[in-house]
Amino acid sequence: MSFLFYALQSTRLNHLNILVIDPQKTRENDRTWCYWAEEPLEIHPKNTPLISWNTFKVSHPEHGQVTRTLQDFNYYHIKGSDFYDAIFEQVTQFPNVHFLYEKVENWAPLPQNSVCVQTENQRIEARKIIWSIPEKPKQPTLKQVFVGWKVTFDRQVVNPEAVTFMAFDKQDAHMLGFYYVLPYSSDTALIEYTIYAKTPPEKAFFHQKLKEYLDSTYPDEPYTLEFEEQGAIPMSTLAPARSESHPQVIYTGTAGACTKLPLDLPL
Ligand SMILES: Cc1cc2nc3c(=O)[nH]c(=O)nc-3n(C[C@H](O)[C@H](O)[C@H](O)COP(=O)(O)OP(=O)(O)OC[C@H]3O[C@@H](n4cnc5c(N)ncnc54)[C@H](O)[C@@H]3O)c2cc1C
Repeated sequence: MSFLFYALQSTRLNHLNILVIDPQKTRENDRTWCYWAEEPLEIHPKNTPLISWNTFKVSHPEHGQVTRTLQDFNYYHIKGSDFYDAIFEQVTQFPNVHFLYEKVENWAPLPQNSVCVQTENQRIEARKIIWSIPEKPKQPTLKQVFVGWKVTFDRQVVNPEAVTFMAFDKQDAHMLGFYYVLPYSSDTALIEYTIYAKTPPEKAFFHQKLKEYLDSTYPDEPYTLEFEEQGAIPMSTLAPARSESHPQVIYTGTAGACTKLPLDLPL
């Protein structure tokens, strides 16, 4: 989706015939997306009020808590559905962009340096493929696995000033776990429990952790669960299994091992 946004900003690309193939017809609010920057990114949806924080906390049960400002930076928040709506709105201005709601099965090279995509129902020829379908990694990789709950309390018990990047859980020899909290207002917050694992535990484990946090941080405070999200982000820069190279195929996103910055990338 981000690629589509930037392609449509480019006068070199935005007149081309673009076909987006994805079985997902409707886009729900499936994720909360945050990033830090001095100014909101060009891609930040402009259809809703800007949400950001300038102060963050990190805490550990034995080593205490630090609170710092991000100085010139802010931690900006994007609601997934706002992002999708803004992109679809922009696409309506481009009759050369089409959607096909089908599952892609594979791609293959064709003579004269062109390529084709095989979907469940048809074969489509193209000059270029931007491939962003996540695939199984070559070997089990460490993942950042999390489940988040957006909750609204009956009373104003949340401090909306500072985002909690990491509130480390009590020591566990086998696992690193922490809570991440986005306080939207004095009564609403998104609380996530995150671990790093190759084989993540069942969802019930995360639910238990979230309940423990709510019970210990906001004892006896009634709340309503508004929304749940979950994710498993590969912590690897290894290219996934199908990354055969071809001059007309560009792998992007997780499929292009671009989720995490390489450690040796000069920043
Ligand atoms: C809940 C959640 C919160 C997150 N929060 C953050 C954050 O705060 N900051 C951050 O930097 N990152 C965050 N991430 C990670 C970030 O969203 C991903 O790294 C990013 O979306 C990866 O982009 P992608 O294009 O590779 O994959 P996706 O965005 O997952 O897109 C893959 C697309 O491929 C489609 N697809 C799958 N199979 C097929 C098929 N066979 N044929 C056709 N299409 C197919 C899917 O429908 C989907 O639309 C979060 C992720 C989640 C789930």
